[in-house]
Amino acid sequence: MLKNDLLDQWDRENFFHPSTHLAQHARGESASRVIKTASGVHIEDRDGNKLLDAFAGLYCVNVGYGRQKIAEAIADQAKELAYYHSYVGHGTEASITLSKMILDRAPANMSKVYFGLGGSDANETNVKLIWYYNNILGRPEKKKFISRWRGYHGSGLITGSLTGLELFHKKFDLPLANIIHTEAPYYFRRTDEDMSEAQFSAHLAAELEELIEREGADTIAAFIGEPVLGTGGIVPPPVGYWEAIQSVLKKHDILLVADEVVTGFGRLGTMFGSDHYGIEADIITIAKGLTSAYAPLSGSIISDKVWKVLEQGTDENGPIGHGWTYSAHPIGAAAGVANLKLIDELNLVDNAGTVGAYLNKAMKDTLGEHTNVGDIRGEGMLCAVEFVEDKEKREFFDASIKIGPQVAAALLSEGVIGRAMPQGDILGFAPPFCLTKSEADEVVAKTAKAVKAVLG
Ligand code: PLP
Repeated sequence: MLKNDLLDQWDRENFFHPSTHLAQHARGESASRVIKTASGVHIEDRDGNKLLDAFAGLYCVNVGYGRQKIAEAIADQAKELAYYHSYVGHGTEASITLSKMILDRAPANMSKVYFGLGGSDANETNVKLIWYYNNILGRPEKKKFISRWRGYHGSGLITGSLTGLELFHKKFDLPLANIIHTEAPYYFRRTDEDMSEAQFSAHLAAELEELIEREGADTIAAFIGEPVLGTGGIVPPPVGYWEAIQSVLKKHDILLVADEVVTGFGRLGTMFGSDHYGIEADIITIAKGLTSAYAPLSGSIISDKVWKVLEQGTDENGPIGHGWTYSAHPIGAAAGVANLKLIDELNLVDNAGTVGAYLNKAMKDTLGEHTNVGDIRGEGMLCAVEFVEDKEKREFFDASIKIGPQVAAALLSEGVIGRAMPQGDILGFAPPFCLTKSEADEVVAKTAKAVKAVLG
């Protein structure tokens, strides 16, 4: 590995980091870290600091770090065939095998997988395919997408528009036209104190229906949502939410895209979030957990209903005009095959469910009574702690105080990585599925120490 004392300087002079305060970083005012190696749930930087990564990178290294079987599958594939494209009917053993493995695990109404590289481009594909679908069906007006405030679907032009977080719109001239947002299914932040969860779900469905009627159902193509809001704050839906939303969508003939970039392949303790919440999607977005980030790969799983229309479209218009050079890249596909096998062999979906439940309970038992902890929530191997200034009145801290980032920094100094979620004072956890109960205890104990250091 590169040993270079100029690395810090080179980094600040040359490297444009995503989601970073560019000016502070260039001036050397903000922390930087060069990661050198990793194993299991731990990463190690080049100064020898070992950290428990309780966010699995960006909730993606689901099987944990340092898995030799995946590394070897990648190396073997690179030696045998580093690349061939998948246009006009070409494939590789890895890409064909992986598409079968995905369909074997996906909900029964799913038919085919289109492969991309990351979650953003997969959602971009989904929007294009749905526009195409409605054109083939002779409904050229039916093009708008509805997503939720606090949803996260990527940071491209369309996908950044679908994303419902201020930071991703501000100064980028987003959202683009034809993308509209509806209320987030965020029970803790509801405005009506007296609503039960079920009433809140009914309220959200009613809001959605009003929006559809205002815009005209014949102008709305699809609704996109994550089974559990991720980057928007790690927020599981209120009771009955998906059922209520789906019934509105069905009534108005609006397609549903389940963005399972975070929840796909086990994070909720079930193979898909759609299984967990009874979601019957028309397209499912997958990425992160598909390869556990050992190589970039994403996918759009297309239902029978949509697929039939795509076939009709190519009969009428010729080959589909959509493809990336790296679609179904063999190295990514080989990583995906090895990753899905490992998840089965090590029973990691079950582990995500059981250790995730243990982590959530331990977090509640330890921090639930703290005066500045307003909410602790989670599902499977996802957990969030939300901080408030006044618990009784559910009043939030001024964002400029940056309580969330302060607690995350204090936790880091204890040797554990949690993520200060971008909107609100929310500390998020999404550890690798191989987390043990004793590692979960460590995460909780160190979080309690960090909270005490910042909030007393
Ligand atoms: N969709 C969801 C639910 C995500 O969480 C993310 C990334 O965090 C994306 C899409 C975008 O994926 P990518 O960053 O790979 O483009």
